[in-house]
Amino acid sequence: METLLDKHWHYLDGEEVAQLLDVPPSKGLDKFEVEHRLSHFGENVISVKKSKTSLERFLLQFHQPLVYILIAAGMVTAFLGEWVDSLVILGVVLINALVGHFQESNAVKALDSLSSSMNTEATVLRAGESLRVPAALIVPGDIVILKSGDKVPADIRLLSTKELRIDESMLTGESLPADKNSSSLPKETILAERHCIGYAGTLVSFGQGTGVVTATGNNTEIGLISGLIDTADELATPLTRKITQFSHILLIAILVTASTSFVFGILRSQPVNDMFMAAVALAVGAIPEGLPAAITIILALGVSRMAERKAIIRKLPAVETLGGTTVICSDKTGTLTENQMTVQEIRSGNLAYTVSGTGYGKEGTIIAPENSNTAPDANIALRECVRAGLLCNDAKILHKKERNIVEGDPTEGALIISAEKFGLNHEEEKKRFRRIDELPFESERQFMATLHEHDHSRVIYLKGAVEKVLECCTESMLPSGETTLLDKEAITSAQHEIASKGLRVLAFACKHASSDATIDQTNICVEMTFLGLQGMIDPPREEAMSAVAACQEAGVKVKMITGDHALTAEAIGKKLGLRGSACNVGDDCRVMTGKEIAELCDDELTQQVEDIPIFARVSPEQKLRLVMALQSNGEVCAMTGDGVNDAPALKQADIGIAMGITGTEVAKEAADMVLTDDNFASIEAAVEEGRGVFANLLKFIAWTLPTNAGEGLVILTAILFGATFPILPLQILWINMTTAMCLGMMLAFEPKEPGIMQKPPRNPNHPILDKVILRRIGIVSVLLLLSALGLFEWELSNGAPVGKARTIAVNVFVVIEAFYLFNARSFSRSPFELGLTTNLWAIGGAAFMMGLQLLFTYAPFMNNIFATAPIDLLDWGKILVCGLISFSLVEFDKKRRPQ
Ligand code: ATP
Repeated sequence: METLLDKHWHYLDGEEVAQLLDVPPSKGLDKFEVEHRLSHFGENVISVKKSKTSLERFLLQFHQPLVYILIAAGMVTAFLGEWVDSLVILGVVLINALVGHFQESNAVKALDSLSSSMNTEATVLRAGESLRVPAALIVPGDIVILKSGDKVPADIRLLSTKELRIDESMLTGESLPADKNSSSLPKETILAERHCIGYAGTLVSFGQGTGVVTATGNNTEIGLISGLIDTADELATPLTRKITQFSHILLIAILVTASTSFVFGILRSQPVNDMFMAAVALAVGAIPEGLPAAITIILALGVSRMAERKAIIRKLPAVETLGGTTVICSDKTGTLTENQMTVQEIRSGNLAYTVSGTGYGKEGTIIAPENSNTAPDANIALRECVRAGLLCNDAKILHKKERNIVEGDPTEGALIISAEKFGLNHEEEKKRFRRIDELPFESERQFMATLHEHDHSRVIYLKGAVEKVLECCTESMLPSGETTLLDKEAITSAQHEIASKGLRVLAFACKHASSDATIDQTNICVEMTFLGLQGMIDPPREEAMSAVAACQEAGVKVKMITGDHALTAEAIGKKLGLRGSACNVGDDCRVMTGKEIAELCDDELTQQVEDIPIFARVSPEQKLRLVMALQSNGEVCAMTGDGVNDAPALKQADIGIAMGITGTEVAKEAADMVLTDDNFASIEAAVEEGRGVFANLLKFIAWTLPTNAGEGLVILTAILFGATFPILPLQILWINMTTAMCLGMMLAFEPKEPGIMQKPPRNPNHPILDKVILRRIGIVSVLLLLSALGLFEWELSNGAPVGKARTIAVNVFVVIEAFYLFNARSFSRSPFELGLTTNLWAIGGAAFMMGLQLLFTYAPFMNNIFATAPIDLLDWGKILVCGLISFSLVEFDKKRRPQ
């Protein structure tokens, strides 16, 4: 079979290809053959160029400006004969690289496990049955069934197509989808023009088709070129980029200051060695080298937390943007509602029937109106109406775990159940009315049609949105089976009556067709006979109601954008408590329909879009206009979508959200985030997590910068005044490395503050280094300087040896940083209000840090390396007082000027 893999499949006839690959097209491969081929050809996965090996990532830890400085400093000190200093510096470089590598690996692992949980599935025909299988388990010879929204799972020779269009831009660069058919082509046809081939990884944008798999995994066209595709820099976000830029500017400023102070010291005839080490210490102390990495780690932790809450982040920047979301545009069906449809009302032959029973259970009957003598089974129009619903249908009812579930579209599942309640049997009807052709449901078209053969004649059934179906009808069927002129007004008012109860209404129609008829767009929508309406309930999700309320309280507007009818949408919107300035709870909600949107120019839409909470009968293209209108009002817009045509709106939105269960591959590909449970409540949860992550980022920044500034200030002051260094360069290195790891990183684990969803969303234009953070930098860095310098000078003036005075200065530095860690847990609340035990990591980190400081102060080997000396209890008392003063001053500042 291997030799067959380089055949010119487009040149051969479809049947021939199937024969060569040894598969009957109408049945597909059987289980054993699939297993055999799977072991022979391997899984259908492309082994992409591994992004970076662990070793490469470790080595890259050394590729940082700060590390260059340290390595240079280590070498120069070795050259100067200062062996201890040199070894410590190089040891610090190594530890720093190891810790950085460990943290980065964890972040990469978290992201990797997410991307692998996003595996695609495909529909195949095996042993005569159509099955959904993971795309990785597809083998050459498999018969694949494609429909709009699918990702083509492997290279495929098409055998039959129905208006099939495939977006091949990722392969050919051509932006318009290519029309596909199954006819063979000349041998020399170039790849982009092989219309009878579907290429792995491309996206079906319209229609349907079947084909036989000719190549899988690395043998596919995309597999062959994938070595050329570079993996994206998946760890960068706008914020990390901003921070990296900021650290580069800071780096240059600090290097300039360090070298100026070096020259300054020399001019004041200080020893070159000392000045060199001082300049290095200044650079090391003042550069916030851990910042970009810490931010990536905090974001990655956020990604895992969101995944636990059913929101899978596909693009890392989304974690950040989520926290600043100001408006969520959500689909109705399945996201805000249960997507558990049950037909409750049927109007047919001018009679109104109710349907008993709940969910997809078959218990229940169709009940005739009280004043009617026509029993349901005597009403031919009703029989045809439910039969149309049953046959013009691709769903299946499966009995699993003692209950019925729907495989396929729940709207269609409900129609199977209503027909069964009438007394029709799905399997028997499918056999009696063999389906010959079909026009699948597409959101744009809002209807579906099927052609059936029965007793040597053909009939077309149509079902869809009422307005669309009525456009195709000229007459309607009476209970006797005879037809009469269509009364559109009466049907529309019946539709409104049902829809205003929140029910989704579908209309049904049929027509007889000639014995050689097929279906296409042009012949379908003419002279049909209207059969009736079916109204189905789809209750709002309980948790969506509270999630909508939570979002609205958090200042995030919620807009429902649906393909459903305005009245149905309005009734559901009211139950959900959707609020817009024109729709207070209890008032009539203002609904804008797709038709109205079409009549507005962009400026008008931008003006009106804010006040309207519900948009009904909206086409996917209009979703794009709505997102753009909201964005031009400065909104940060999250938008949900599931269909293939939702992709442009999902891409345009600040956060595109696709549905994990009902969403098409196309929508998932375009989205920034995927909901594994399709539930609106998970969007709210993700927004909440996003706010939490952003708050922790700011807290980390607010902790880091003052400590760096403080360290820099101490060294700079000593150099400028030519004073004895209160902290030695090696000691600065020690403080810098240990506190960032043991203290600062603990803020990544800070739980969300209570009331995080009661605040308005963050303004995206608000600077990161705002007044509050700048003031904190000022207060804490000056306190560090005064305390360290003050205690140092006090000790010296009391005759203490310089080693001891320095040990006290280092300890005061660390203790103030530890106290400040607890200040930094919130910008507005004291740690006592938050609860001291709510972040045990912070307590653990501080305790560990204190343990290290005891070693640093009392262990003889540390005394030797770092030139420290033991201090007594009274000294600790003084240090503690400095810590408490600093803690209280920051708390006082919080209360005086709450954020
Ligand atoms: P959402 O609220 O999630 O945007 P929706 O399911 O209400 O989506 P669409 O799926 O675009 O919106 O459906 C629009 C209309 O098309 C429905 O109101 C219904 O009348 C009709 N419709 C929906 N599903 C089918 C189907 N399977 N066959 C025929 N018509 C359908």
